[in-house]
Amino acid sequence: MYNPKSRNAEEFISHSEVLASLKYADENKDNIKVIDEILAKARLKKGLSHREAAVLLDCTIPEKVDEIFELAREIKNDYYGNRIVLFAPLYLSNYCVNGCVYCPYHYVNKNIPRVKLTQEQIRRETEALQDMGHKRIAIEAGEDPVNNPIEYILDSIKTIYSVKHKNGSIRRVNVNIAATTVENYKKLHEAGIGTYILFQETYNKETYEKLHPTGPKHNYKYHTEAMDRAMEAGIDDVSLGVLFGLELYRYEFSALLMHAEHLEAVFGVGPHAISVPRIKKADDIDPNAFDNGINDDVFAKIVACIRIAVPYTGMIISTRESAECRKRLLSLGVSQISGGSKTSVGGYFNPAPEDENSAQFDVSDRRPLDDVIRWLMELGYLPSFCTSCYRQGRTGDRFMEICKSQQIHNFCQPNAIMTLKEYLEDYASDATRAVGESLLPAEIEKIKDDVIHAKVIENLAKIHNGERDFKF
Ligand code: SAM
Repeated sequence: MYNPKSRNAEEFISHSEVLASLKYADENKDNIKVIDEILAKARLKKGLSHREAAVLLDCTIPEKVDEIFELAREIKNDYYGNRIVLFAPLYLSNYCVNGCVYCPYHYVNKNIPRVKLTQEQIRRETEALQDMGHKRIAIEAGEDPVNNPIEYILDSIKTIYSVKHKNGSIRRVNVNIAATTVENYKKLHEAGIGTYILFQETYNKETYEKLHPTGPKHNYKYHTEAMDRAMEAGIDDVSLGVLFGLELYRYEFSALLMHAEHLEAVFGVGPHAISVPRIKKADDIDPNAFDNGINDDVFAKIVACIRIAVPYTGMIISTRESAECRKRLLSLGVSQISGGSKTSVGGYFNPAPEDENSAQFDVSDRRPLDDVIRWLMELGYLPSFCTSCYRQGRTGDRFMEICKSQQIHNFCQPNAIMTLKEYLEDYASDATRAVGESLLPAEIEKIKDDVIHAKVIENLAKIHNGERDFKF
């Protein structure tokens, strides 16, 4: 039985409720009256229920689809302005005991070299990431209690935070590791992580069990209830995602929103961010072997409908997608992207092409970070290396409250400007610096508060003179 407040995965992601939503969406997708009612609610910019959003996703009436895309753009602009936050993944270890059929790290794959970074190698990777200009990373590891125990992850976090290379520092470490216990989540929380990221892969239990035939990840309930345990342990910024291509996208879309509703119902805080990865080619993985691939148009509509359904939730797109595809999704709702990523273990310090065969999947956007930053600015975006919210205690419900009331601009805009200035001073090519310096005055003028405005100008001069890490 469907119950968003239940702590039981099969009740808050109730299969029958997902099917009922899909039926409701199918029955109403051409019903202009219902669609207009939903769009009117959506225009309040406070979000939609999974059933309402499912109708918009299914609707194919051209004028209504245009309205959906237009509204997504408007909401994106209201909540996030033109800022785009940058991050990079850092792969620590590809040892894995699971049998996930879409992931080349599955333990039966003997083709890929298994690599686990030592703390010294992590230090070098961190320096290489800092030398690119990154301040925020997501650590990634396969699930292997012997090779990658929680102590290894905790040591790695400590190492990453301790590295200060030239003017560089990693100020926020997000963590993408397998579902674990409340006790381990508490340790991650104490280690000062930013967001805990865990992709559901698929919400359909039967499909989930088939795609994860062996290993601890086979346990649907344990995996699906992971965010509850993370929140219980005090991690109040969690990031959801499904791997599009594994199951029918309509099913995943409704269930993903039900998961967000569940977190809000139980903890009073929805997901901090939602990732929208699509399955990609990898060592022994052929994405065409999966029946549910989605084309770019459907993908864009999913992003737009998520933006409308959960306006306050960040949306993340990685270098799995091409520059062209990322450009389209940025305007429709994506607020955070990776840049200059390597998905191989040790790939930043040692980017030799042969190393790529330890990569988790092929990346489509292979441009260096500097090119991505310049490209963003030329498209009219303000790249941001801000990591301030969680360092200033703006997490969980405090963050959501500020974000829902659209007050977040007061912090994000100045922080974006100041961290971009750091990037321009320390890491940018001449061409990128020129573009950046020319856009700063207009971005500074967007700050309405006189005191903050003056402070930003003062801090920019200090950054130019060598001081770092100013934040609101
Ligand atoms: N091992 C961790 C776990 O079990 O959740 C997470 C780390 S894994 C490095 C990060 C994510 O990459 C997975 O959750 C999965 O969604 C995604 N992934 C795996 N294989 C992929 C592929 N072939 N193409 C695109 N993404 C993939």
